[in-house]
Amino acid sequence: ADDLVRAVDRIMHYADAARRLRVRANADNAEDAARARRMGGEGVGLCRTEHMFLGDRRQLVERLILADTEAEQNEALDQLLPLQRDDFAEAFAAMDGLPVTVRLLDPPLHEFLPDITELSVRVAVAESRGESHENDLRLLQAVHKLHEQNPMLGLRGVRLGLVVPGLFTMQVRAIAQAAAKLLRDGGRPRPEVMIPLVGTVQELEIIRDESARVLREVGAEYGVQLDFPVGTMIELPRAALTAAQIAESAEFFSFGTNDLTQTVWGFSRDDVEASFFSAYLEKGVFGVSPFESLDTEGVGRLIEIAAAEGRAARPGIKLGICGEHGGDPDSVHFFHRAGLDYVSCSPFRVPVARLEAGRAAARG
Ligand code: PEP
Ligand code: MG
Repeated sequence: ADDLVRAVDRIMHYADAARRLRVRANADNAEDAARARRMGGEGVGLCRTEHMFLGDRRQLVERLILADTEAEQNEALDQLLPLQRDDFAEAFAAMDGLPVTVRLLDPPLHEFLPDITELSVRVAVAESRGESHENDLRLLQAVHKLHEQNPMLGLRGVRLGLVVPGLFTMQVRAIAQAAAKLLRDGGRPRPEVMIPLVGTVQELEIIRDESARVLREVGAEYGVQLDFPVGTMIELPRAALTAAQIAESAEFFSFGTNDLTQTVWGFSRDDVEASFFSAYLEKGVFGVSPFESLDTEGVGRLIEIAAAEGRAARPGIKLGICGEHGGDPDSVHFFHRAGLDYVSCSPFRVPVARLEAGRAAARG
């Protein structure tokens, strides 16, 4: 058994020495981040912040989204800020010295709204009993206004950040405060702020300018220099096709191949079990689901275009990928050939990604 362990270590050592792609992990909390590190992850390539708002905190986001007044909004933001600061401080400390890419909130909106059917029933029942139901009725009207038929194509990502006042600013402030405090204590936090679902450079510019203002403000407050990268996900075809413009305002690109696959094919990523999907596999339209192994001709082509345009517009721009494909062997070979800087995948897939990145490099 010892021989086997030594042999595996040696193989990993050769792979690490040969590979050009860096390997990061997707981790949403300090525990996952620590696991990522143990698996050889060289940073966190995607920290999805929506998972931080489940449980008790969901209510605070709901209040923020549905707030009628600025005072209500500020109250919810004031409660969220220290919670987020603690979340980020833990993640940065777990990855001390390694980059942590924090993606600003990107939920399908309905996950943070009261269930519209339940609310309608409650209002109807109260009405039929002649009971007072003014609050529920007001809530129902507000939820109705935000109701979407297609939440995955709706008020998500940067759109939410632009529509809900203070939400992204609060998150950037929490990141900045957590980093500033660690820096002051002699730590080496390396946060990166990532904006989701960007389709046009204008969206990015607004958030980037606001982030820069917050970094200056918090830096001055704590007496430290805060200048960490602000970048974007490329997960919509329009973003890929306008990568030259987007690169002007983004210090890095991270390809979100889950959403990119969904939007390039027009396949719902939430319905991959649908009958036509298995029929397609059965009939050999494709051998493997494009959500599992990268569709190099469609999605991959867009990645190549965006990578080339991004590099031409901003030489040295950092390019990564953080969709599920980051840990799929064939896809890793494609990302190597496309010249990306890193892949980011689930912590458990980090060793496979390291190995495949090494094999890809050895193949030339
Ligand atoms: C993606 O779209 O590939 C991605 C990494 O983001 P998410 O899966 O959270 O939408
Ligand atoms: Mg996505």
